[in-house]
Amino acid sequence: MLNLIDIPNANHGAQRGPGEIDLLVIHGHGEWVVDLNNDGGLGRGRIWHCTDWLRAIGLSVHAWCLPDGRIVREVDSWRKAFHARAFNRRSIGMEFAVPGVWTYDKLQRAWRTGHPAQLYTDLQLEAGVEWFRARAVEHDIPRAAASVRTHRQLDPGRKTDPGIQFPLESFVAEFTR
Ligand SMILES: [Zn+2]
Repeated sequence: MLNLIDIPNANHGAQRGPGEIDLLVIHGHGEWVVDLNNDGGLGRGRIWHCTDWLRAIGLSVHAWCLPDGRIVREVDSWRKAFHARAFNRRSIGMEFAVPGVWTYDKLQRAWRTGHPAQLYTDLQLEAGVEWFRARAVEHDIPRAAASVRTHRQLDPGRKTDPGIQFPLESFVAEFTR
């Protein structure tokens, strides 16, 4: 049983119809973000919660999966969200929040190097795969490995999320089971 919270995000695009969505995208993001460049406009060094942060910088995702397994829905999955550039039109995205306070560079380094080794929680991964399975049913997306991609796989020159710590193989095995 998923524990769902709704925090709507107005940054979204058009409604999509049956058959237009065929991809589920896994993202990673710091749960708390240190804004070193004042990109959020409320001051250098301000710490933001991830859901507020994405809204402030004009982006969105369909849902967040928090470390305690709660899911925050921000854009209806039939609508286009702004999370994966060229793939937004055909995809549904989920951000897995990495526990703790992170600067952009520190999290990039963790994702690239694999240190620390554990970033995601079991509760979170279980809730995330259940949510992905439910979206596959809702949108008639095949429960196949080809239906799931990480952000890094879609945009390898620019993106490293969700990092090498994300247990993609077991996640996809559970998704397709
Ligand atoms: Zn991403």
